[in-house]
Amino acid sequence: MVVDNRQADASLASMHRIFTVPEAPDSTLGAIELDISQNLNEFLRHHIAAVEKPLAEIEKDFSSADIPETPSFVSDHTQFLLDKLVAQSVHTSAPSFIGHMTSALPYFLMPLSKIMIGLNQNLVKIETSKAFTPLERQVLGMMHNLIYDQADDFYAQWMHSANHSLGSFCSGGTIANITALWVARNNVLKADGEFRGVAQEGLFRAMKHYGYEDLAILVSERGHYSLKKAADVLGIGRDCVIPIKTDENNRICTDDLKQTLSELEAKRIKPIAIIGVAGTTETGNIDPLEELAAIAEAHQCHFHVDAAWGGATLMSNKYRHLLKGIERADSVTIDAHKQLYVPMGAGMVIFKNPASMTSIEHHAEYILRKGSKDLGSHTLEGSRSGMAMLLFASLNIISRPGYELLINGSIEKAQYFADLIKQQADFELVTEPELCLLTYRYVPEATQQALLLATDDERETLLEALNDLTQFIQKRQRESGKSFVSRTRIHPKQWQRKITTVFRVVLANPLTSHEILQSVLKEQRELAKESELSLPAIHTLTQQILKRTK
Ligand SMILES: *Cc1c(COP(=O)(O)O)cnc(C)c1O
Repeated sequence: MVVDNRQADASLASMHRIFTVPEAPDSTLGAIELDISQNLNEFLRHHIAAVEKPLAEIEKDFSSADIPETPSFVSDHTQFLLDKLVAQSVHTSAPSFIGHMTSALPYFLMPLSKIMIGLNQNLVKIETSKAFTPLERQVLGMMHNLIYDQADDFYAQWMHSANHSLGSFCSGGTIANITALWVARNNVLKADGEFRGVAQEGLFRAMKHYGYEDLAILVSERGHYSLKKAADVLGIGRDCVIPIKTDENNRICTDDLKQTLSELEAKRIKPIAIIGVAGTTETGNIDPLEELAAIAEAHQCHFHVDAAWGGATLMSNKYRHLLKGIERADSVTIDAHKQLYVPMGAGMVIFKNPASMTSIEHHAEYILRKGSKDLGSHTLEGSRSGMAMLLFASLNIISRPGYELLINGSIEKAQYFADLIKQQADFELVTEPELCLLTYRYVPEATQQALLLATDDERETLLEALNDLTQFIQKRQRESGKSFVSRTRIHPKQWQRKITTVFRVVLANPLTSHEILQSVLKEQRELAKESELSLPAIHTLTQQILKRTK
């Protein structure tokens, strides 16, 4: 037996060693690197969507709050990470993982991401990023072009202009939405005569100066929760995000919006932005952007489109018409880490007008000097990684037509799945897919009939039991680890806006096959039978109703 009495030490020499670039490819670190890659590949190839070890068990491996007093060898610690972390991770790249908006990545990003970590450029300022700064500005230009399609001389003039910005790259849709509303707020409460603007003097004095009673942000009731965070941090308040009703397709009712706008006007409440959602998080539907643009123009209000998830559809010549009107938006949020298949931490907000962002411009003495091209003068975040490089690489390697194939494939797969669900007597499609997201639930055939004949009370009871059943199936399916769909609660018009728990599916992984979709339904039907509470109750009540009404 070999006694392992190696002990890592915390000497200065060993600290220096860990910062030194390994020379030989067969060095210890080189070997560890290879081992990690192999282990990760193994995980990605063979794991199914999730593993069933209970979270409480996993927490035991992460229970100590002590910072170690003795260092570990990289090799030992790597083994810990592989055993306790990697092995217990969620396999978001599995083709049967069809529950969320962030999922599979193209494999080339693994080696390329080393460039980002290896160089550790800080995009806050040119001094620490050099070529990464023009690269990021070019990526923002490409996204601007995708949305607004301006002529070449527009980009020649503005893309690299020191005092302008076509947008900002950030960690995700949340920061992108906050940035868009920050700009909108500052433009509404801008400097005016003696008043030096909300950015300098704050909300309290701004409101006094302009004589507004309150501010508001208008978005459909399907708006993403990040908008409430934005309202909170911008001092506007969550209550001032005013939810506008949606129609039976989860799209904003523009008549209600117009009505609300005139009510606000009468009360001297100033809307800082009207927001259209291009791909709602829960149901994937797209607001009528053209109509919203016209309403925003008529009220001279900032028009923002939250296309965090759906924006990538613009890559598809076949389907980009679904987002018609987005080119009239003052600002647009797009997450590259959703349908552009880039790792997380890649959000963007793009502004139509290259001068919009001056309202949040910030300068400091030691960096971000006036007239510098430092990106940090127009971003909410400070130090930032070179993540734009991975989007840049993907845009080049995949290309627009490549993305179109992926986007079209996802949309058409969702149409296939919707048809498949409709063909099943015991499943109900709850929301039709507009892009690649749909919702549905399991309802025994006889119960579908009983629901039509039930009294109000009976229907209520049935719907509640069905909600429990959906939740039961979804949890069981996740735990059993073969496949994963998510669930959410919506208020569909066809059930009198009663709260309805549904399965939610996002079909973004190109490797998800029709066979996998068929087996997801099959598994859910089987799991339903394992429910010892909801299903028997549903059957009993169904029989009662059907017998009575015979
Ligand atoms: C995902 C999403 C967001 C939030 O983006 P994060 O990257 O998670 O911060 C905002 N709005 C919509 C419509 C989204 O789908």
